[in-house]
Amino acid sequence: MFLFEEIKMKLQAQCPDLIKGVETIEVTVVPPRDNYVYALKGTIAIGDQEASVYIAFKKDFPIRKPDIFLEDRDVFGFIPHIEPDGFICYVHEEGLLLDQDNPFGIVKDSLARAIRTLEMGVSEDNYDDLYNEFEVYWARQKTKIVVDCILSLGERVKEIYVLYDPKLHRPVFIFDALDEKSIFYAKNLFHYDILDESIEKQKGIYIPLREGTRLLPPSYSSPWGFGQIKDIIFSNITSSNKRELQRILKQKRIYRNTKEYILLSVPQPNGYHALVGIELSEFKARKGLKNNKSFRHPLIKVQSDFKLTPLVLKRHHPSYLLQRTIGYDEIHNKHIAVIGLGAVGSRITMELARAGVSKFTLIDDDVLDIDNVFRHELGSERLYFFDQKQHQLQKVPKVYGMYQELKEKYPLIDVEPKVKNILDLIREDIHQFEQFDLIIVAIGNPTVERYFNRVVRTLTDPPPVIFTWLEPLGIGGHALLTLNNGNNGCYECLYTNPFDPDCALYNKASFAAPNQFFGKMISGCQTAFTPYGSMDALQTAILATRLALSVLTGKEKDNPLCSWKGDSTDFLEHGFKLSKRYELTTEQLNNTRYHYKAQQCPICGQDGGS
Ligand SMILES: [Zn+2]
Ligand SMILES: [Zn+2]
Repeated sequence: MFLFEEIKMKLQAQCPDLIKGVETIEVTVVPPRDNYVYALKGTIAIGDQEASVYIAFKKDFPIRKPDIFLEDRDVFGFIPHIEPDGFICYVHEEGLLLDQDNPFGIVKDSLARAIRTLEMGVSEDNYDDLYNEFEVYWARQKTKIVVDCILSLGERVKEIYVLYDPKLHRPVFIFDALDEKSIFYAKNLFHYDILDESIEKQKGIYIPLREGTRLLPPSYSSPWGFGQIKDIIFSNITSSNKRELQRILKQKRIYRNTKEYILLSVPQPNGYHALVGIELSEFKARKGLKNNKSFRHPLIKVQSDFKLTPLVLKRHHPSYLLQRTIGYDEIHNKHIAVIGLGAVGSRITMELARAGVSKFTLIDDDVLDIDNVFRHELGSERLYFFDQKQHQLQKVPKVYGMYQELKEKYPLIDVEPKVKNILDLIREDIHQFEQFDLIIVAIGNPTVERYFNRVVRTLTDPPPVIFTWLEPLGIGGHALLTLNNGNNGCYECLYTNPFDPDCALYNKASFAAPNQFFGKMISGCQTAFTPYGSMDALQTAILATRLALSVLTGKEKDNPLCSWKGDSTDFLEHGFKLSKRYELTTEQLNNTRYHYKAQQCPICGQDGGS
């Protein structure tokens, strides 16, 4: 307690401009956000307006900042960053570094920030925060229902579906249409079939408010009534949406046990949209009115009494979840082929999915093996499936395992798995590769990669291709882009030696010196593999994925060779030799990323290329 007494005395003596009348109070006076161990009360002033504040300390102070509350939440009106219990959100603790050796400094600084937050609210300097955090304030209403929702917002009024679980007495899921995608999504999310008859399918209306509408969230002390909501809707929608809304409303009849849902999309100054909703339920005839069997929708005419409950929507739509990541708009509708779903390819696929790519074709004819699982996106649960017809366990092709992994994590993604050898696919129809926006080749087989590099160029309109591969024993990895923007530079350039065209093939990008063999037998010839660890594959996958994203977003204009360089201790201990290129620093590798291009390249070069 000595620490807090000292802070109190210093506040009294040194900070009359910030706070007056500082005294110790019982912690029970403070709203119960935390188990506070000590609390102070004092008076601050914003302009002429005075207000009492609490400064409450957690047991971990000064590792954690003090919480500051307004005694009377509404003393300055409805302003940003004041929560319903009076808590002043003056700073977000993440990313804040507190100087534990100066506890008084922390308190003084916190108090100054809290006062600044109030000043900005009173002067309306941070009013945009109210508009931009509409959903946050909406969610702070006392009674509310939280519902998962995967709605695509648009500019048109439309009918939407609401699943209502009678056992839970609440809506559980809101979505666009009763189609295959929504059913699959809900099944994956809730682990039950939404087509089950016990789950009621209700309909609701989605209403987008006109662009440019500026709407403050309801204040804590006066939530919106239905009349107010009706006014907000009809004075802020376009005339065509009003016609559509009236058309939908006219068809609706309301019965006693009906539930009606209205979702509003509210434009914000930052360009995003808030999505909030209301549930109308427990309809009954108004006193004095004839006890009709059914009523009109209250947006047309209020003929009944009903209960209004705010809906807080947990938005699942990728365009919403990824809206703050860079480049989402450019990449989400791209179609990407990944050839080779091993340690590198499987990671690239998952990372591209997380970045928002929504359409994949996965090509690999191999099955997942227990030898793979410690360096693969897939684990042992994907090793086998039980074949009902044959009544036996079967090994799972990697592309099917990836299909399931992707669909479970991100159900809206389109995945086409192809259990095919790349050479067979080329033989079948090379033109099928024209449909992709980007092809990633991660098969770890230089002979096939060279061949693919050659044949893909015979297409009239080939997409960009990224070749990516790993070095042995953690010394590095590479990703090479080709066919971007019609520029030259290709995989064959790496094997083009202008001085000695007849010498043995050697990849110029390599960090290992020529003519060494890295296959390592752990149990006979069948399991020969290049030794590398999971993190080497991961780092290479990151390199290739970053390159893929910069192609898709148009940031990369040319065809670079990107490399990461790892530690060489293991490699050298095994008696292997490094290449000259390994001696380059990371910066030099980056600066020379276009230098691999060979003028004499028989595939892309000016001298001999097509
Ligand atoms: Zn805040
Ligand atoms: Zn070339």
